[in-house]
Amino acid sequence: MTIDCTKFVHWISQANRRIQENKDTLSELDRAIGDGDHGINMARGFAEAEKRITARADQDLGALCQEVAMALLSKVGGASGPLFGTAFLKMAAVLKGKDHASVTELTRALQEAVSGIKMRGKAELGDKTMLDVWEPVSRFFVESGEQLSWRELRVFAGEQMEKTKPLTAKKGRAAYLGPRSTGHLDPGAVSSYYLFEALCVAMMESEEKQ
Ligand code: ADP
Ligand code: MG
Repeated sequence: MTIDCTKFVHWISQANRRIQENKDTLSELDRAIGDGDHGINMARGFAEAEKRITARADQDLGALCQEVAMALLSKVGGASGPLFGTAFLKMAAVLKGKDHASVTELTRALQEAVSGIKMRGKAELGDKTMLDVWEPVSRFFVESGEQLSWRELRVFAGEQMEKTKPLTAKKGRAAYLGPRSTGHLDPGAVSSYYLFEALCVAMMESEEKQ
């Protein structure tokens, strides 16, 4: 199973669709433990990302990741913009010059993305941030290898998102609330779930076509 440029564009377009459809939900979640802009931020960024890569789908995976990163860095704003932007920049470095990538190569790209998110945001697992989805998902890739089941990954990513609910925020705006952040899903974990769910759906759809 490999990801090529067509599948990559399909992934980002599926992600954008989910983010646009759930824009209000994401902002509501952020209203509970932040400032209420996460849905608007992500919707602006992913609309731009989809637009840019659809126009340049002939490029290699590294260049496509770079385009997504630049769109997110310039349009998302807030804390999450630089973090998602860094994640895609790190993936770009691993996928540079490749017109397709194996699950193993995608795993390496995700591991780099997780390091980038950690380096930039200084969060650890359990701090109630997007990292609580990204890091376990990256580990799921490592443990599954080329046998990875997209169906199982989709369920797994959803479980990781749900696990942020009982946590107390240690990083980002929600950390100011201290114990009052408990009992709410982390908005960045939810948008990260949409991103990985979109990847699973895009990959499952392409498997069905084969
Ligand atoms: P802001 O908090 O600036 O308004 P957003 O609302 O767009 O930005 O994004 C908030 C999300 O960003 C949080 O739900 C969390 O997942 C993520 N986040 C915030 N700070 C960090 C950090 N230091 N490390 C990782 N993720 C973070
Ligand atoms: Mg916010």
